[in-house]
Amino acid sequence: MRKHIVAGNWKMNLTFSEADELVGAIMDKLEQVTLDPDTRMIICPPFPYLEMVSDYGDDSYFTVGAQNVSDQEKGAYTGEVSAAMLESMELDYCIVGHSERRAYYHETDAIVAAKVNQLLAHNISPIVCCGEVLEEREAERQFEVVKRQVVEGLFHLTAEQMGNVVIAYEPVWAIGTGKTATPQQAQEMHAFIRSLIAEKYGKEVADETSILYGGSCKPSNAKELFANPDVDGGLIGGASLKADDFVAIAEAF
Ligand code: PEP
Repeated sequence: MRKHIVAGNWKMNLTFSEADELVGAIMDKLEQVTLDPDTRMIICPPFPYLEMVSDYGDDSYFTVGAQNVSDQEKGAYTGEVSAAMLESMELDYCIVGHSERRAYYHETDAIVAAKVNQLLAHNISPIVCCGEVLEEREAERQFEVVKRQVVEGLFHLTAEQMGNVVIAYEPVWAIGTGKTATPQQAQEMHAFIRSLIAEKYGKEVADETSILYGGSCKPSNAKELFANPDVDGGLIGGASLKADDFVAIAEAF
């Protein structure tokens, strides 16, 4: 059966010592609790801290992912980080197509697709974000928008490649705003995304794909969100910067 995943996206936060302290606190907390054995925790720190966070623990506590990757293989792309570099650090996951990258860095569906290709070619599972902005939801265009993002970003893949993809539905109006999608809104969209995958790749692939919810997920609402049959965990921003909250969210399963 598909994995339950709770992934923390630290974004561009924390100094090195703050990051060190946070991951230490997460480890301490994890030693005090018993998580559902099917729950996988992922921490996605900024690039400069990947090695420090990776050095902290073994995979039984959490695995480490990046927040971004280049759409190019290698070469004269100053400031970029390639999938080959991430693979050489033995990372398992990388976030792609986060709404902040789509909005501020003009990341199109075509760029998302190219990044997904780079990651899969280097044995890294992409966590591919999709989600509508407020105006699109108000115009009842959320399904059309998410369908386009999923189809354009992912549906060039083979079924085998699709088996290594994680999807995160993150309604943009819920990210960092304190407004969370209702469990019904989340379930409805997750079921829709799973139906798109089933149509294209068949039920078996769809049933194996983890679809995470992201957008102001916190300990107080995680249980209700994760109780839905098509919600397989969360991509957590703000709450992943607090050890107690991040681990409490993982305990919601
Ligand atoms: C995110 O940016 O992926 C996110 C879900 O942020 P927050 O949890 O802070 O809304």
